[in-house]
Amino acid sequence: MILVTGGAGYIGSHANKELTLAGYETVVLDNMSYGHEDFLKWGVYENVDLGDLDSLRKVFQKYKIEAVMHFAAFTYVGESVEDPQKYYLNNLKNTLNLLQVMNEFKIKKIIFSSTCATYGNPQEIPITETHPQDPISPYGKAKLMVEQVLSDYSIAYGLRYVSLRYFNAAGADPDGDVGERHNPETHLIPLILDAAAGKREDIKIFGTDYTTHDGTCIRDYIHVTDLADAHIKALKYLENGGKSEVFNLGNGNGFSVKQVIEEARKVTGKEIKSTETDRRPGDPPVLVGSSKKAREILKWQPKYDNLTEIISTAWEWHKKDNADMM
Ligand code: UDP
Repeated sequence: MILVTGGAGYIGSHANKELTLAGYETVVLDNMSYGHEDFLKWGVYENVDLGDLDSLRKVFQKYKIEAVMHFAAFTYVGESVEDPQKYYLNNLKNTLNLLQVMNEFKIKKIIFSSTCATYGNPQEIPITETHPQDPISPYGKAKLMVEQVLSDYSIAYGLRYVSLRYFNAAGADPDGDVGERHNPETHLIPLILDAAAGKREDIKIFGTDYTTHDGTCIRDYIHVTDLADAHIKALKYLENGGKSEVFNLGNGNGFSVKQVIEEARKVTGKEIKSTETDRRPGDPPVLVGSSKKAREILKWQPKYDNLTEIISTAWEWHKKDNADMM
């Protein structure tokens, strides 16, 4: 069985679905701090906190775990600056707990959710895996620390890992089974869709004086189902004896905040009021990744690689998830 930590969350639930479709049995582990009961649609579920070593051991005793996909983590970059302890305890210390128990039970394969935030401010675009890692937030630092721990453990204990550095995860399951639901919501596309649905008055554009073609920040949006698919490919890579590796997961296409809003207007047919405001601190002007390595080694090929599909799957989910309000 595959242990999916954080499997009741956004990316974890999509991966849990794809694992099931690919014929794997899964155990979802989630403490429901940010997870959703109604995302538990596949596999078996254990309500366990990664801070609780004994309960974690019981899960490894109860099920025959072959590999772990580790999604469970807090993900608010801004919050990590205000309350770094929250991030180091959950994203670092609790990951050390997981690795400790994996080690005790001799589980040697892990896929780790890392992030482009481990690079910090980019020195060149597109960002490749060899770009220097100099994170600027505790969120990015904790993720980088885990990458380094994985590297040391792999040398010492024979653990094999794949760290996947996500760019901007977006979109929703095309069947509408699961999707993006964060509280509070801070991400651009769901907030735009909230404005389209009349749940908020407008979308704020954080900064219009960046050195980009229209002055707004450019990001690399990657569909969550494509991310999930990359996890399956990474798992198969490890099953086939692949050595520990890190891969970027992005589209290689950058879209500005204004382009995303414009595309959302087309997809939703709604006006969507936008308001230009100051920059959000800590936002680099451009974050676009090269996923050449994942395409070559994992044979990964994003299927939903255009903004229209990303936004339309997100919109279909958003309408369904907010049906009572629309
Ligand atoms: N953004 C924005 N208004 C919002 C939320 C986000 O203009 O209400 C911008 C943000 O400054 C960034 C881009 O949209 O340039 C993507 O932000 P998001 O928080 O979705 O992802 P991040 O790139 O921070 O991981």
